[in-house]
Amino acid sequence: MNAPLSPPADSGGGPTPRLGAGNPDLDAMVRSAVEDGSELMVLHLDIDHFAAINQNMGYEVGDSALQVVGQRLKSAVGDDGRVWRHGSDEFIVAVKLDPQGLSAKQSSEGLKALIEQPVSILPYTFALTAKVGISLCPDHAITADALLQLAESSLLRASRLADEPVQLHQQAEIPPATGERAIPALLVDALGTDQFLLRYQPKISARDGRVIGMEALIRWNSPELGELGPERFIRTAERLGVIVQLGEWMIESAVAQAREWRAQGFDDFFIGVNVSTLQLLQPAFVDHLLSAMQHAGLPPATIVLEINESVLNTDMQAVFRTIRALRREGIGMVLDNFGTGDASLRSLARYPADILKIDRSFVTSTLTGSRETAIVRAMIAMAHQLGMKVIANGVETEAQLGFLRRTECDYFQGFLFAKAVPAGEAGQILRERYLRPELFTQTRDDRTLLLVDDEENVLNSLGRLFRRDGYRVLSASSVNDALALLGNNEVQVILSDQRMPEMSGTDFLAQVKVLYPDTIRMVLSGHADLKTVTEAINRGAIYRFLTKPWDDRELRDHIREAFRTFEARRARAPVP
Ligand code: C2E
Ligand code: CA
Repeated sequence: MNAPLSPPADSGGGPTPRLGAGNPDLDAMVRSAVEDGSELMVLHLDIDHFAAINQNMGYEVGDSALQVVGQRLKSAVGDDGRVWRHGSDEFIVAVKLDPQGLSAKQSSEGLKALIEQPVSILPYTFALTAKVGISLCPDHAITADALLQLAESSLLRASRLADEPVQLHQQAEIPPATGERAIPALLVDALGTDQFLLRYQPKISARDGRVIGMEALIRWNSPELGELGPERFIRTAERLGVIVQLGEWMIESAVAQAREWRAQGFDDFFIGVNVSTLQLLQPAFVDHLLSAMQHAGLPPATIVLEINESVLNTDMQAVFRTIRALRREGIGMVLDNFGTGDASLRSLARYPADILKIDRSFVTSTLTGSRETAIVRAMIAMAHQLGMKVIANGVETEAQLGFLRRTECDYFQGFLFAKAVPAGEAGQILRERYLRPELFTQTRDDRTLLLVDDEENVLNSLGRLFRRDGYRVLSASSVNDALALLGNNEVQVILSDQRMPEMSGTDFLAQVKVLYPDTIRMVLSGHADLKTVTEAINRGAIYRFLTKPWDDRELRDHIREAFRTFEARRARAPVP
């Protein structure tokens, strides 16, 4: 550990000391734990988005909040432990563990909960959130330096895993050798060089697999560390404030790329650009973005900003104003990682956005957890009620795709279609326009069509026609067979012959109306007896009367429209 250690906190109300050079106090604690065989845990705590509090409420408020947090931690650990401040908004805590008491994870959760109790610094009252990395002596290491390093790498993992903010060091994990520790210095040096690049991940329309846009995702090609993904350095960039410069570069690059693609003849795509809170708090942000776009001749809809839901966590008038100004100019807004923060609904109510992006964690668990499934359904319905579109991130399997298509999700992004690729490859994808179109012609189990006709060859040719359109097709050559199939299957649309041995198609459908009133019922007949038809339509027994011989295209249009009608009616129907 290069960071300096200084004496531990006194138990009074004074400021929490910082880690001073050489770590003598932690060294002593570790040595004594090793000597008397007791267990010691070292925590590295990081407060989320603290820079935004400083920026928004002022440094005095920020400092006072850190003092309050330090005091809470000190009184919680009492004589069994010590607390130091580290960096601008982090704490190191070392505590002896009682073998009969709480586990390391439980005690850490307790400390985290303390930090998260509301802080009142007039005129503000707000709640902080934190992430925690833990290492244990002697289980993981027996020197202060190594314990600090392991706690820090666990903290980095906690930052990557949004829903698991407390992380214990995992034995199998190889401690990041020179890597993580060197990142801040290397990052600052890398600004203004060409070590950063953008990759583009396609976004797909749920209707047919058409590519509607790309998300720009940053990578850092560091000569010392190799290629790093954003999870490894964005948080550090935010903490150091250099995210502002990095963000400017990011926007310039995305704008330049959009301009190039437009010059190549593509004009119906957008680029999603991720922005951090600190960027949105820059007074010149809106002007810079707009002038870059104007300069490149881009219409406003070409750039869409992806704003992490957690940005909207604290009441930040400044962010709100920026977002409003951007929307006035026609810049689209994606509410990113929806469902992961604790402000989801509040942010939905307050911040007008065009697209809600369901976080990957929900998409991953939709098919395993029935509660998640219900939540995803509800999120999509809610977004639609608010006039927003929905994109699901992290679609990896056809099963996830199937579920999301049935729940009316509008767009997809995920490895099932493509990973983030270099700009050249992304251009090629735009040229091809569709990704994995075959996934969209597969059978839709939610669209079942029942064909009823006593003539085998009619059933066969209709079956071939409609299977091509992806429906599940059931065929019955008698009324009895048809009723049996209806009893055992969810059927939405029925296409029946009129002249059948047992009864007429219209009478059969009148019977079906009573049994399955929601079905869309249609007759396909070679004999148009106007009276029977009119009567059946007037009774509401049938929806359309179509004639043989049929025109394939027209018939397919009728069936497609019938399914849409069914779905529209169901969407309007009150939930039981
Ligand atoms: P995000 O906004 O949630 O972006 C999508 C991330 O999900 C990308 O990771 C993408 O590769 C990943 N992803 C998409 N589909 C799948 C899938 O099917 N399976 C899996 N396992 N992952 C999938 P990436 O590129 O590592 O980016 C991570 C995060 O870093 C982004 O998450 C975004 O919040 C942030 N980020 C990326 N570029 C920038 C940037 O330029 N500025 C800022 N402020 N943040 C950025
Ligand atoms: Ca994003």
